[in-house]
Amino acid sequence: MLSARPVEGRFRRLRSIANTILIAILFVVPWVRIRGEPLVLLDIPHRKFHVFGLVIFPQELFFLWLILAGLTLALFFFTALAGRLWCGWACPQTVFTDVYAAIARRIQGWTRTGPPRHVALWRRVATHVAWIAVSGIVGLHLVGYFRSPYELIGALRHGDLAGASMGFWIAGAALCYLDFALVRQTFCKYLCPYARFQSVLLDSDSLVVAYDLERGEPRRKKRAERKGGDCVDCGLCVAVCPTDIDIRKGMQMECIGCTQCIDACDGVMNRIGRPLGLIGYRSLASLEGRRTRLLRPRVVIYGVLLVASVLGFGAAIVAREPLSLEVERNRTSLYQRSADGRIGNAYTLHVQNRERQDHVYRIGIDAPARFQLVAGVNPLPIPATGDVTASVFVLAQPDATAEDEDGTPIRFHLENVERPGRKIARDSTFLAPAHETDATHHEEDRDAD
Ligand code: SF4
Ligand code: SF4
Repeated sequence: MLSARPVEGRFRRLRSIANTILIAILFVVPWVRIRGEPLVLLDIPHRKFHVFGLVIFPQELFFLWLILAGLTLALFFFTALAGRLWCGWACPQTVFTDVYAAIARRIQGWTRTGPPRHVALWRRVATHVAWIAVSGIVGLHLVGYFRSPYELIGALRHGDLAGASMGFWIAGAALCYLDFALVRQTFCKYLCPYARFQSVLLDSDSLVVAYDLERGEPRRKKRAERKGGDCVDCGLCVAVCPTDIDIRKGMQMECIGCTQCIDACDGVMNRIGRPLGLIGYRSLASLEGRRTRLLRPRVVIYGVLLVASVLGFGAAIVAREPLSLEVERNRTSLYQRSADGRIGNAYTLHVQNRERQDHVYRIGIDAPARFQLVAGVNPLPIPATGDVTASVFVLAQPDATAEDEDGTPIRFHLENVERPGRKIARDSTFLAPAHETDATHHEEDRDAD
């Protein structure tokens, strides 16, 4: 069960506001549709990643890599600048663990000093029931980033309790219950990889939650004691810490920067009439009497890389082709002969519309006039963010194609019917018998066999 005491104070109020905003965003985004397309959906079964109006396909995974690189650099940049801002203020682990703890305290009747001496069994059971219900809601929204929440709700309405969507939902809810209700900050302490490498991102100029050793020590055992530092050794900063550490022992890897000890200690300083900030957001340099330098080489390097990744992403979006085209030559037969004696090659065109609008494209070839394109459907309608596969033939006179043993280069192109000039092209080759007579004899031999 919970152990950390609740705390009140200015940082607690700010964090509650931040939590509310973040949860609202997290809950609203999976439901948002723009012209029928989800705002954010990592749709793995259909191999489409909807990210704020952009539909990314598996062939373009470098976009996702660019987004991940940008987020990682942002994490490095803000950690170097202001410590574990992410962990204390924005990480879902912290945000939801806070919510789950608040639910438990409300049901179990905690006071400002902690839990009641005895918590009735029904209150304990009710806490778990409430956690499971909230996990259902949180799980729906977290899974909603991978599976449409409309689909999940639809499955529930139709009683499809055995479907894959329901399985995802139940798994998501179970994970939320296990993590936010039971594991809680143990995850931050022992499992989170970020905690392991944050120490290399921080330096003495980074802003962190720190105890002013010079001001606080030596600790006074009694508040009335005249001699000694400002710390009265009340232990409140330890009692409110969700990771069970004593910040007075210096910076520790387990500290998630949640600021609860700042609020607790400020409350004590208020009561004993001492200045606030014995524990506060500060750099270790400032505690050593040096000026805090915000602009340092590592901050500048991370900042420049972050801006470069954002600009790179923008440039990649601008240069992105709205359509992808792959041309595959039929490999089962090199060429065929038509009834009128012409040589024919079969091709398959794989077309993918990366835009959110339907389009119609005309298929054409760039080749000498003796080549002729034959397509079953032309122009070709391609639905928004959809794929179309089209089979086409190219026919040519045999004597005209016998000039190149490696084949004659031809280029396929698709031109947007609504916006002429908007084109995409891919190269391929046209194969024909090197010498028409050899091919004829070869076919005659085969007929004789
Ligand atoms: S809350 Fe403040 S006064 Fe109390 S033990 Fe911690 S640092 Fe000392
Ligand atoms: S030491 Fe303070 S800031 Fe760090 S985790 Fe504990 S309460 Fe939060």
